[in-house]
Amino acid sequence: MYYIGPHVSIAKDISLAPERAKELGATGFALFTKNQKIWKAKPLEEESIKAFEENMKRLAFPRESVLPHAGYLINPATGKDDLREKSFLLMLDEMERARLLDLKALNIHPGAYVEGEREDGIKRTVLFIDQVLERTESVMIALENTAGAGTVLGDKLEELEKMMALSKHPERIGITIDTMHLFGAGYDVKGNVGKVMDEVFSRFGEEKLIGMHLNDSKVPLSSHKDRHESLGEGLIGIEPFLHLMHDERLEGKPLVLETPNEEKWAEEIRILLDEGKK
Ligand SMILES: [Zn+2]
Ligand SMILES: [Zn+2]
Repeated sequence: MYYIGPHVSIAKDISLAPERAKELGATGFALFTKNQKIWKAKPLEEESIKAFEENMKRLAFPRESVLPHAGYLINPATGKDDLREKSFLLMLDEMERARLLDLKALNIHPGAYVEGEREDGIKRTVLFIDQVLERTESVMIALENTAGAGTVLGDKLEELEKMMALSKHPERIGITIDTMHLFGAGYDVKGNVGKVMDEVFSRFGEEKLIGMHLNDSKVPLSSHKDRHESLGEGLIGIEPFLHLMHDERLEGKPLVLETPNEEKWAEEIRILLDEGKK
């Protein structure tokens, strides 16, 4: 079973998210657990949590078909004390929200180091993650690979591997692989997506891959830019995505569309699911 769906809105109430995904024919989805543009949101209400749970069950979304994404304000690699503190509190809050919603893992970006050297940033990210894991329960952290713009960490798979190796709690860390970010970072998913995925699995193992973000790219290979495009309309093209629908290692993991045109989501989902049935 392939869990495919978009990153849906939680406007009005988070419990509406499963319905929004189902309407598009999705078998999985991603979401923010709060308004991602603000530092502090009011706690999830018990009613919303219950309704979310009921809707998940009613619409047949298992918990592992959903991958929540932490807000972009969070920067685990920052060298600034105030931003670090705010990021940390927000991350704790988001981990708690994921736990209350009974979700398996929370997706985060490793952050941008800005201050100091790259190695300093890596150490700060690892410490951030470890401290978050020590203050929370059960929910895993899914570290996402990036395109590596500017001082953004995590464009090379070996860097994510290194973060995991430096962590005191690697058993609670997994990874999310974004196809557009791979392409931006110089992994040729257009030329040979199978080979790139083999590298992912040989580095991390099947268990560690929590999910994927399936995005085409507006920018060329090794551009180190992060610009998503609808599937088949970018420089990656549709073929590699169809290929992924025959990779059984991806079954049972959320495969999320973060593509820019909402109007195309239903069609993108249909194409992928149909291919997966072949
Ligand atoms: Zn992504
Ligand atoms: Zn991106």
